[in-house]
Amino acid sequence: MEPDANTLNLSRLAGGLAPFYVMEVLERAMSMEREGADIIHLEVGEPDSPTAPEVCGAAIDSIRRGETLYSPSPGIEPLRAAVAESANLRYGLNLTAENILITSGSSPALLLAMMCVVNPGDEVVITSPHYACYPGIIKAAGGNPVTVPVYAEEDYQIDIGRMRRALTPNTAAIIINSPANPTGAVLDDKTLEAVCSLGPLVVSDEIYHGLEYGVESRSALNHTGRAIVVNGFSKLCSMTGWRLGYMAAPRELIRAARKLQQNLFISPNTFVQHGGVAAVRSVVPRSREIAAVFSERRDAMERDLRRIGLPPCGQPRGAFYMFVRIPGGAGGDSRALAFDILEQTGVAVTPGADFGSEGEGHLRLSYANSVANIREGVGRLGRYMESHC
Ligand code: PMP
Repeated sequence: MEPDANTLNLSRLAGGLAPFYVMEVLERAMSMEREGADIIHLEVGEPDSPTAPEVCGAAIDSIRRGETLYSPSPGIEPLRAAVAESANLRYGLNLTAENILITSGSSPALLLAMMCVVNPGDEVVITSPHYACYPGIIKAAGGNPVTVPVYAEEDYQIDIGRMRRALTPNTAAIIINSPANPTGAVLDDKTLEAVCSLGPLVVSDEIYHGLEYGVESRSALNHTGRAIVVNGFSKLCSMTGWRLGYMAAPRELIRAARKLQQNLFISPNTFVQHGGVAAVRSVVPRSREIAAVFSERRDAMERDLRRIGLPPCGQPRGAFYMFVRIPGGAGGDSRALAFDILEQTGVAVTPGADFGSEGEGHLRLSYANSVANIREGVGRLGRYMESHC
């Protein structure tokens, strides 16, 4: 017998979390595909190319060597050292392996970062729109998300006065994300520096670093020692399914996070980390080449969106997303609109509602797809908008 949800006494966290609508769109798109529909995926936040063969080879070799047991809980030394060295090279920092904790994706790194600095009832400041999972991660650590709006008209830059006014004695941290999901906005270095000087610890989600077009971001660690940088291999290295990420932070913080990791996850996956070493050595140095492919797709999507009267909001200069305002606001229901677009046109897009209150009335389009698919998808979207909006 299936028990009634009310009798399960679900926690407020589990019961109250909003669904991640993009996953529902993806699931519906996949079921339509199974029925033979021709779907263009502009919803998913993952590169379309497979993981590099060197990376796969390194992980397979590691399995063949029998490296299938627990790894040290902060991660294997060669990967910690390689990550530190690669960050030093890009940002001119002085990190060592002791500043790095390897995790099973950057999502656990974000959770551990929150658990290291948040006490029950503390506040964590994020922007709106924001990456969909931040509120749940903050709440899972016992914190309360506080949002500061950022606007397309201001190119989604953080207004420092506005953010300062959101700080209270209970503010435990500020989470920033540049290049940003869902807008593709890149924070100006002056703004990054100003956020880092506000006082609270900064958790900087730098997962889209390397995927920047015409700009190159510095790290929060260039501006303050009181930062936790979260990064990973999912995006730049096309390794979403490997589940590999890390945090870079002061040693004291890494020691605390390591204890949490021991208790919560034991260790990251061993042979996946050997793949990670190969990725740092052979894929990360090719970031310009990888970014050039996305840059061409970015240009194609922007050109076509402008042509159909849906110009991207702000200046999308990084990641692989564009955020567009729905003409007429779609009655404030981006979710219903995304499902209708999918049913009518076979184009899967992400409802803006996934990204906080400022995201409603928008759609997010991902250009992690071929130029041909982007052109076809935006073309279909244009025909839909002509007849519906
Ligand atoms: N941060 C941001 C901004 C993201 O877009 C994502 C993935 N969509 C993540 C973190 C999580 O990435 P992963 O756990 O795959 O490393």
